[in-house]
Amino acid sequence: MARISEPDLVLPALYVIQKQPGITTAELISELRNIFIPTGEDAEILHGRNDDKFSQIVRNLVPHHTLDQRLGYTILGVSETMNSSHRLSEKGLSYLQDNLLSVESLFSNNFGYAETVYGIAEINTSRVAGKKITIFDENIFIFEGRRRAVTTQVYERSKLLRDKAIDFYTKNGIIVCEACGFDFYKIYGDIGRGYIEIHHQKPVFQYDEIDFSRLIAEALKDLIPLCANCHRMIHRKKDRPLSIQELREILAAQSS
Ligand SMILES: [Zn+2]
Ligand SMILES: [Zn+2]
Repeated sequence: MARISEPDLVLPALYVIQKQPGITTAELISELRNIFIPTGEDAEILHGRNDDKFSQIVRNLVPHHTLDQRLGYTILGVSETMNSSHRLSEKGLSYLQDNLLSVESLFSNNFGYAETVYGIAEINTSRVAGKKITIFDENIFIFEGRRRAVTTQVYERSKLLRDKAIDFYTKNGIIVCEACGFDFYKIYGDIGRGYIEIHHQKPVFQYDEIDFSRLIAEALKDLIPLCANCHRMIHRKKDRPLSIQELREILAAQSS
């Protein structure tokens, strides 16, 4: 069961504070909840309190002075409503900027809670170990706005991973949706040839020293070609994506 830890919340908190300078702790909790959508133990309400474990871990950042005094990443102030408010320091801003792409790619891909927690821990561990890490971003190929936001390296690696997945799933020159069997070429003719979306079931990371072909071989089992409709449906539940099996069962139930 995935559990978020206080150190792993540092980057996500800075990410939110940068977007809303002067944000109060209550607002910070609410924004982070919207990003993570905690499930399982972290969503359990603490005994006798109106608070769950996830919120409590965020709240603890303040009395522990993790962001401000210990790390020097934020400046603690007082809001108009006399609550604690948070702003980034120069140091916090530069630390966030060094890791911004990884964090944004992770958050924009709508993985479930377990995968997002795993992903943010991975980013944090690599940073502590001083390793360079690249996260592959499937949304570059779906949302034009994401493409402009990523570096050439993220774009090229993501494209290569996507191409490998398409090769892997193409049989006799045809690639179909793994959930419903939709064939873009059959329905749309030439303009649909080779069109498919690749769903990432897990965040895929690359450490710079890891061999790319080995990484691809590992990652392929977590990539699934889907038609645009099935891809939207698999991400329709806010708290977590459906599994491919769940989507197939839904389709089967509807057609029976
Ligand atoms: Zn489909
Ligand atoms: Zn997807």
